[in-house]
Amino acid sequence: MAAVTGYPYPDPPDEEKWSVCIHCGMCLDACPTYQVEKLEHQSPRGRVHLIKAAGEGRIALDEGLYDPVFQCLDCRACETACPSGVQVGSLIEAARGQLYQAMPPRGWKGMVGRLFLRHIFPHPKRLHFLGKLLRFYQRSGLQAAARKLGLLSLLPGHLRGMEAALPEIPESPSRKRLPKVSPARGERKYRVALLTGCVMDVVYGGVNEATVRVLTRNGCEVVIPEGQRCCGALQVHAGDRETAKKLARQNIDAFLEAGVDRVIVNAAGCGSAMQEYGELLAGDPEYREKAARFAAMVQDVSAFLDEIGYEPPSGRVEGTVTYHEACHLAHGQRVRQQPRKLLKSVPGLTLVEMPDAARCCGSAGVYNLTHPDMAGRLLEKKVDDIPEGVDYVAMGNPGCMLQIAMGIRKRGGRERVVHTVELLDEAYRREEAPEEEAAAVAEAPAGAVSEVRDEGLIEELIRLLGKDAVLFKKEDLLAYECDAYTLEKALPRAVVFPRNTEETAAVVRLLNRRKIPFIPRGAGTGLSGGATPRGGEVIISLARMNRLLSVDLPNRRAVIQPGYINLHLTQAVADQGYYYAPDPSSQQACTIGGNVGENAGGAHCLKYGVTTNHVLGLKVVLPDGEVTELGGLPDTPGYDLVGLFVGSEGTMGIVTEITVRLMKQPEGVRTVLALFDRVEDASEAVSDIIAAGILPAALEMMDALAIEAVEKGTFPVGYPEGVEAVLLVDVDGVEAGLEEQIRRIVEVCRKHRVREVRPAASEEERARWWANRKTAFGAVGTLSPDYLVQDGVIPRSRLPEVLARIAEIGKEKGVRIANVFHAGDGNLHPLILFDSRVPGETERAVQAGSAILKVCVDAGGSITGEHGVGLEKREEMKYLWTEEELEVQHAVREVFNPEDLCNPGKMLPRPARCAEVKRHSKDSASQQK
Ligand SMILES: Cc1cc2nc3c(=O)[nH]c(=O)nc-3n(C[C@H](O)[C@H](O)[C@H](O)COP(=O)(O)OP(=O)(O)OC[C@H]3O[C@@H](n4cnc5c(N)ncnc54)[C@H](O)[C@@H]3O)c2cc1C
Ligand code: SF4
Ligand code: SF4
Repeated sequence: MAAVTGYPYPDPPDEEKWSVCIHCGMCLDACPTYQVEKLEHQSPRGRVHLIKAAGEGRIALDEGLYDPVFQCLDCRACETACPSGVQVGSLIEAARGQLYQAMPPRGWKGMVGRLFLRHIFPHPKRLHFLGKLLRFYQRSGLQAAARKLGLLSLLPGHLRGMEAALPEIPESPSRKRLPKVSPARGERKYRVALLTGCVMDVVYGGVNEATVRVLTRNGCEVVIPEGQRCCGALQVHAGDRETAKKLARQNIDAFLEAGVDRVIVNAAGCGSAMQEYGELLAGDPEYREKAARFAAMVQDVSAFLDEIGYEPPSGRVEGTVTYHEACHLAHGQRVRQQPRKLLKSVPGLTLVEMPDAARCCGSAGVYNLTHPDMAGRLLEKKVDDIPEGVDYVAMGNPGCMLQIAMGIRKRGGRERVVHTVELLDEAYRREEAPEEEAAAVAEAPAGAVSEVRDEGLIEELIRLLGKDAVLFKKEDLLAYECDAYTLEKALPRAVVFPRNTEETAAVVRLLNRRKIPFIPRGAGTGLSGGATPRGGEVIISLARMNRLLSVDLPNRRAVIQPGYINLHLTQAVADQGYYYAPDPSSQQACTIGGNVGENAGGAHCLKYGVTTNHVLGLKVVLPDGEVTELGGLPDTPGYDLVGLFVGSEGTMGIVTEITVRLMKQPEGVRTVLALFDRVEDASEAVSDIIAAGILPAALEMMDALAIEAVEKGTFPVGYPEGVEAVLLVDVDGVEAGLEEQIRRIVEVCRKHRVREVRPAASEEERARWWANRKTAFGAVGTLSPDYLVQDGVIPRSRLPEVLARIAEIGKEKGVRIANVFHAGDGNLHPLILFDSRVPGETERAVQAGSAILKVCVDAGGSITGEHGVGLEKREEMKYLWTEEELEVQHAVREVFNPEDLCNPGKMLPRPARCAEVKRHSKDSASQQK
């Protein structure tokens, strides 16, 4: 069969949605499948990249797209993390719809899937019959016999686990037990309808009953519409959009006919799916409007109770509870605090937070059946995270309840899995019957197309590292064709994932023998193309070398592998009062190995210095495979090779271990926000703050266009209209001196006509201001499908004139430029917005970038402060260095990398003999004016 290219079927993924993705990588660490596998094509960014590639006809609708798209849990954790608001879930679901038609499910798995999705779930009577069979199996002695005879060992492992964790199935489904209309207790304030669901109805009917009791207790008349059906979520997840649409139409008719104020749902996945009916039926002229109206009425029970101001219970439920956030509640519906509020309001109950509570448990619809291996690994992590000694694990989704009960049972744990609303219900019931046992609360028991391949090489790599550590198919390589700088792209020959120094050295020796160039890569968040192939290199990904090897607090240092994520280090030592100072805005995603490659900086580097000031020693695999150590303690005399290596952009070897300095947390931190009506006033205030002898920990600035982006992004602050510049200033140190520093900063800002200036009122407000600033790059996706970020440095005192010149360049080149930058150290980040689909715009954006760098050099600055040179700025190196100076730099590199196999073509222009030579000196700068 000929391969299908493009998206030929109805309901294709929306180009407008994928074009919002600016490839920044801020979503990487939020994605459970990426966390486990560290594979780019199993990350949100990689998946969006592949969906886009398929839309452009660059890859076919076949296995290469199928696997990443269906390995996705559709958990939406990436959507919460994405500053641009990319709707990854919607793209995934639409792509699944296309794949479902291009490659209809075959074999016994396909048959079983179709049987359940089309012929059982949509028909309540058949589903209820299935429930009866299960109950018969549990109660007739068949279950006991099957267990005794060991017959269950014939089932696949995951089904076996489910069989064991299944609670006792009630005699009849909740739909049959519940009255069609349950009157409100007391005055009727609302009329609501309840979705009884499929799994909830048959397996966890008690949750539906508890929901009805809690709602009626709070003044609701509750209707159970007769004609309601399965919500269609499972069908959408599987790609069977036509069946899902049919179900959606039936539900819309049934619920709208009931004449209710709200449609209440207690299953997160169902709620999320029903809130998206408007989108699902957007192409249906008859239902479009009704679907949107209906979707707006759908609400999770906890959010509804919170909104109407439910009555806190007075009955006690003694014990401790932890809360697991079901993905479709936390990320799909953004309902996060309300269930916690409900739990906290139960007298006697103490909420203990679970780490990473919103990470998927692996249930994800039928994911645990279709992808048992990944689901099992996620479940293990989830069960590991349950705080020791808690009595209850509460959540808001039946799939999660079953999955987590299974994990707890496997561990032999005693925690009881409950729906949040069950605990609230229990507390209400105890108002009336306080002697009732807590045991009654929970029903659940504890419970290839390969274009670039080199057979011999791939086999050898597999022999060295194992099959799961080598990628070579085009569709897997595609996600590695660039880093976060997307203007240049090329396919690598392969991507490999060594696990330690020895494996890295073995791979490098092999590649060196074969004279095949290679590129070290961390998380690929680099903004200058440092980890981007030029074509045919082997990428050595350090992403799986992500362990914290040791922490030595008395001597304030830690040793880590290069793939360790920057933010994780601070998180690991924060409890003991320490932190790792370099804090790039990408710190939630980028690796410390990549930080070493680029000598990364960050907002707080103004006071504490950049990566090189915090690296004490390195273990390195040189380009011929030799392993060596640089630096370390005690500090020894001789050349500073660590200093040379940090910032060498992977052109001198591969770092495999890093010893870093840890810092003691300052006694106090204060943050000031200043809003200006004129950029010039803000710029002058920056210079004057430093001139006043204050050294802030951070001094950041955003202009009007950057403010527009962050306000449209995922973390808005709510800046007032017309603000032209924002300054965000952190001061830290000994408590006693902080108020005085704040007073002086406020004074300087007032001198420069600030519109509003004030310190953060709480830690929460401070965190909100910083989340807004730190996601500014990513948020420009809300303004433009493409952006190019520049990284010039200038003397602080020249900020006003350089910013004015940047605005002129934008006008000359016909591109919009947003500025968001580390103002305190004069490190500018003009974000040049463009649309690569418009002919000529990319070229104009690149020209604008180069012109800006020239202005920075002319002002006595540099072409990079922290993002490196990479592929992008090699030519601009000529603004700074003479031909001879560039030759010297080549000579230094050749000492380490004589055959130019390690990240060739990066950082230095070649040939070095260039036509235009500009010296970084006052004289030549003035000559150029
Ligand atoms: C939204 C956003 C915000 C950002 N904010 C900042 C910021 O505030 N400050 C800042 O400095 N940067 C920032 N960056 C840029 C980027 O995150 C940093 O350059 C970061 O250091 C790259 O780390 P990485 O793990 O993604 O490395 P990669 O992009 O994978 O690699 C970067 C370079 O390091 C080399 N390299 C990677 N690992 C190794 C290794 N083990 N040994 C030797 N060389 C290696 C690569 O070959 C490449 O040249 C931002 C990027 C984005 C997308
Ligand atoms: S929906 Fe979940 S699994 Fe899928 S890409 Fe996003 S974070 Fe990853
Ligand atoms: S814009 Fe950035 S965070 Fe959002 S999906 Fe794309 S790569 Fe991920």
